[in-house]
Amino acid sequence: MPLLSATLDRVKPSPTIAMSNRAAELKARGRDIIALSAGEPDFDTPAHIRAAAIRAIETGKTRYTAVDGIAELKAAIVAKFARDNGLRYDPAQVSVGTGGKQVLYNALMATLNPGDEVIIPAPYWVSYPDMVLLAGGTPVIVPTRIEDGYRLTPEALEAAITPRTRWLLFNSPSNPTGAGYRWDDVTALTEVLLRHPQVWILTDDMYEHLAFDGFAFCTPAQVEPGLYDRTLTVNGVSKAYAMTGWRVGYAAGPEALIAGMRKLQSQSTSNPCSVSQWAAVAALDGPQEYLADNAALFQRRRDLVVGRLNAIPGIRCPVPEGAFYVYPDISGLVGRTSPGGRLIDTDEAFAMALLDEADVAVVFGAAFGLSPNFRISYATSDAELETACDRIAGFCAGLRC
Ligand code: PLP
Repeated sequence: MPLLSATLDRVKPSPTIAMSNRAAELKARGRDIIALSAGEPDFDTPAHIRAAAIRAIETGKTRYTAVDGIAELKAAIVAKFARDNGLRYDPAQVSVGTGGKQVLYNALMATLNPGDEVIIPAPYWVSYPDMVLLAGGTPVIVPTRIEDGYRLTPEALEAAITPRTRWLLFNSPSNPTGAGYRWDDVTALTEVLLRHPQVWILTDDMYEHLAFDGFAFCTPAQVEPGLYDRTLTVNGVSKAYAMTGWRVGYAAGPEALIAGMRKLQSQSTSNPCSVSQWAAVAALDGPQEYLADNAALFQRRRDLVVGRLNAIPGIRCPVPEGAFYVYPDISGLVGRTSPGGRLIDTDEAFAMALLDEADVAVVFGAAFGLSPNFRISYATSDAELETACDRIAGFCAGLRC
């Protein structure tokens, strides 16, 4: 009898985590690695949020809580959706979990039956297809094109829908491309979905507050109220408030779905960390002005990285609307040989050679379902980004035909 289940055979470990581990391993051996692989802000959780957590500890908020979130946090989430997105929810329509990741996982586990299809535009966040597989569903990957800014088109969406489609997994601004969908882009997709009542929208709004050049974030339930009853809007505090380690994510949607997710969570992790929930209340109810300052900082870094990458012959890098990633296309470099003698026949070979020969860790595009590309997370200092770009440029200049 094999030790591990057949379910586990269907999924692969997260390649972004694998790449970060490999970079950390080389670093521990004394190599001067610049890691541009991890998807988290490089600054600390703001002081007022940390203070709220300390207060929670000191006032005994250290016991089990309601399975899917304390009332105070649900109230803060209801207020956030009204304030930022013009969406009205009742606390009974809100679910809080251990990160956006668990909330997405719960939603898929609670709704998918074998053979149910989930449309995932590629490139996608690495976890989406594996979560669908774990839940027994079938990921239907729909590639996007650089010419469309890596955005899903209504035609491609329409062509991917079948009677078995249960969800469209939607992510704007996107990990890994940073592509954001404007109001008109979302309308074009919601018009398609209005014609297919069996399809629900699972929208991952994790990067809502990281938007550049005046990009006006919008979310499907806000754009098309006719889809409110079949939309689960997922968000979290990890990226906007520099709270990746606290593990708090949330969603709002139809009450019956929220109840299903609660049932699942009650038999797995139960409540998210009590202290983290109080920290999240402070994040959502506290001052919001500094989010724009953070976005401005990331916009400057985006400009630095995009400018440097596009100056490298063989690399094409679109200008993202948000998040803290770029996803350059390297079709102009495939087929060459690295200074260390490796054939760059795939983006994985590119990323490995870049790490081993130029000490820069990035994540290869195949992990996100669209090649040949790589992802840079530019959530690091300007000085590190400059040095990393020097190294990437030097490495690319050394590739031989
Ligand atoms: N969704 C996207 C697109 C992400 O990039 C991430 C984190 O990398 C998550 C969800 C999960 O965030 P968390 O579980 O930290 O809330």
